[in-house]
Amino acid sequence: MDLSTITKYLQSLSLPAFRRRQIVKNYFSGHFTNFTQMTDLPLELRTTLDQNFPLLSVKEINLLSTTNSQKALLKLKDGQKIETVLLDYHDWLSVCASTQVGCPLGCKFCATGKMGFIRNLTSEEIVDQIIFWNNYLINRHCEKSSTKQSPQGGYPYVGRVAFMGMGEPFLNWDNLILALNTIRSRDGLNLGNRKISISTAGIVPRIYEFADLNTEINLALSLHSAIQSTREILMPIAQKYSLPDLLTALHYYTHKTSRQLFLEFAPIADINDAQKEIDALIKLLKSDKLFFLNLIPLNPVKGGLVPSTKLKLIEKQLTAAHIDYSLRHSLGQSINSACGQLATFS
Ligand code: SAH
Ligand code: SF4
Repeated sequence: MDLSTITKYLQSLSLPAFRRRQIVKNYFSGHFTNFTQMTDLPLELRTTLDQNFPLLSVKEINLLSTTNSQKALLKLKDGQKIETVLLDYHDWLSVCASTQVGCPLGCKFCATGKMGFIRNLTSEEIVDQIIFWNNYLINRHCEKSSTKQSPQGGYPYVGRVAFMGMGEPFLNWDNLILALNTIRSRDGLNLGNRKISISTAGIVPRIYEFADLNTEINLALSLHSAIQSTREILMPIAQKYSLPDLLTALHYYTHKTSRQLFLEFAPIADINDAQKEIDALIKLLKSDKLFFLNLIPLNPVKGGLVPSTKLKLIEKQLTAAHIDYSLRHSLGQSINSACGQLATFS
């Protein structure tokens, strides 16, 4: 729901201010998929609103499930499609949100990159992916407990958001910032900064800008090689922002925020898994005590690159070099909802 449009509309109807507050609260609660369901509003107003505004800017057209992940194909108002994923980590529910339709950066290992760039998402479309999943969770919960009221009054809800879906968040800066404000706002989705993560391919000027915001939002960088020539092959954006410039920006970020920075590395057979690659990676990781490695097993992408068979060897060398790292479990591979597998070929 576009808050400024609805606000103007309600003003044009000369409705009291509390009506707007009611509507906004209902919208963010995740309990409603249309205005008619909001029985705390006069029927006439509900009907008019439903005739003029879809409550959500995204519409489900397909949903695929495994035990711990769900992927939704969503249609936007102009007919474009995006994907968004709900991941169940047992202790919390996390959404992998998209920021663009497609992506202009064309990384060789990424399904979204193969689609090319279509357009940026609006802030409304970014936020509505989370509200879509809260709707989904509440409906599923109610169906299971066969009652409209949860016994404890507690419903499952999205507790974390990672901007690791389709697109490069830092190339949709203005809408990303607007969406973050809504996601973090008490009157919005009220998620804490530490529950939000942004992953970037390395848009250097935006890393500085993001550092200067000095929030507690987590930042991750898709590194995938600590050698400039390899990185240029895998991630064409590296031709524009070289590794030395990128590293200066990353050191600025850790210095400014005193926060860990997550470096993502997916070992790919014969591309970034040679000994000199591992050595360069270890050297880079040692250059800043706030760098933390997320080792990601490469998710297969059609016609794409092959996962390295040297994962165990790499882990052994990291341990020997006293490097702290985590091996990211990949949920949802079987429904192509893992990282880098989001693409909407229609
Ligand atoms: N554009 C941003 C965020 C979206 S990509 C970025 O590149 O960081 C989300 C994550 O998926 C990134 O960490 C990226 O490195 C990772 N990724 C892309 N393709 C992948 C693949 N085939 N296997 C594993 N991770 C992949
Ligand atoms: Fe775009 Fe990220 Fe995929 Fe690269 S990895 S093509 S930046 S979505």
